[in-house]
Parts: sequence; structure tokens; C-alpha cells
Amino acid sequence: MLTLTHVSKRYGGTQAREVLRSVNLELPAGQCLAVMGESGVGKSTLLNLAAGLDRPDTGQIVFDGDDLLALDDDAVTLIRRRKIGFVFQAFHVLPNLSAAQNVALPLLLNGMRRHEAAMQAATALASVGLEGHANALPREMSGGQLQRVAIARALVHQPRLVLADEPTGNLDHDTAMRVLRLLRDSTQRTGTGVLLVTHSAAVAAIADQVLRLTPNGLEPHIPSLA
Ligand code: ADP
Repeated sequence: MLTLTHVSKRYGGTQAREVLRSVNLELPAGQCLAVMGESGVGKSTLLNLAAGLDRPDTGQIVFDGDDLLALDDDAVTLIRRRKIGFVFQAFHVLPNLSAAQNVALPLLLNGMRRHEAAMQAATALASVGLEGHANALPREMSGGQLQRVAIARALVHQPRLVLADEPTGNLDHDTAMRVLRLLRDSTQRTGTGVLLVTHSAAVAAIADQVLRLTPNGLEPHIPSLA
């Protein structure tokens, strides 16, 4: 469903440096792939490439049958809006919108009418156990609740793929595990793939595959070396 083949990326400038070197990965529909690795090794870069937010220097990225690098930016933007859900710091819950308005955003961006989007957002909020919080503003919610809003928003448009960057970053262990379970259960049910990057072995443990990104590429993660 998502395949990266020999993907390399270097950032320019006078001290140009290869961040990703010939990275290969294959994420089947409905599976969860966790990528671990030291800070600065290129995990966010990898997610940005998978999202079509950035382009590699070489390699191929095929997502749901489309060769992303063969498409222009407008076409990639449409695919991203329709088929990808994000749990990224960069797409954090917006502070001036209610929980329901935050969750409705991907639907509105895809051209859905306001009334229909509001109904689907309410259903998505209920599916993460936040039915009573539709009108709450982010500042009125706990960290765990906010992360559930982010997950409802990532899933509301029934994406083929969810990209998650430290999806439980600042939550305590029990809350983090509950939030992850929620993400995993809904994506397994719908056959949605999940590519997540994390520092946490406990988070990675919910994945079907765990890989470690190193300066030499993606390697199988061996827990005893963690
Ligand atoms: P990680 O997510 O594993 O911490 P990143 O993908 O954020 O790693 O960054 C990998 C390396 O690439 C870092 O050295 C970072 O400074 C560099 N980098 C990331 N984005 C850019 C950019 N837009 N321009 C130049 N260098 C970048």
C-alpha cells in the first residue's frame, strides 16, 4: 500500500549531508510500521517524504497505486487530503477551534458540506470516547483528550494511511497506551496503514513491524539493543 524503494535525501547548502540513504520500506494495508532511531537521524524527513510534503533526491515512492514522484504538487496535495491522516506536531489541534471543528477540518478541506462534516465529526469524536466534548476548546481538555481529538481528526475522512510522529509524546504511559490502542483498533478495522515514528519501545511494541533508522538505512530493530 505504501512502498519506498531506494529513497535517498540530502539537504543542500555548503555542508550538504545525506540524511536518508537508500531507504526501503513496505507497509501493507492495515498494518502498523514503527520506525525508531536517534534524534536527527531522519525520521521526520522520512514521514515528510511519505506524505509527499517533500521529495527525495532519488528513489521511488508508491502510495495506493500512485507513483508520488511522477505527480505534480497539486495532484500530491489532493492525494494527501483524501487519503492520509496526520498525527503530527506540525498539525496540532488548533487552539481557537472546538474539538468538533478541529475534527471536521479534513472533511471541509475535501469539499464536504458543513452540516455533513459536523455529523461525521460527531461520530468520529464518539468513536474515541469524546461524545460529550464536541464543543470543548483545546485549553479545556487534558493531554490524553487532545491526543484523542488528533486521532479522530486523522481518521475522520477514512484515510488509507495514517502518519504519526510521536503520537503519544507527552502522555503518561497508561494514557499513551490507551490512545495507541484506539488508533490501532480503528485502523485495523478499516484496513488503514499506520507509519509511526517514535523513541519509545513501548509505543513501537504495538506495531506489526519495527525498523530502526540509522545513517546506513532502515534495519530491523532488535529490542535487546534498544
Ligand atoms: P529526526 O526526526 O530523526 O529527529 P529529522 O528528519 O528531523 O530527524 O532531521 C534529520 C537531519 O536533517 C537533521 O540533521 C536535521 O537538522 C536535518 N534537516 C531536517 N530538515 C531539514 C531542512 N529542511 N533543511 C536542512 N536540514 C534539515
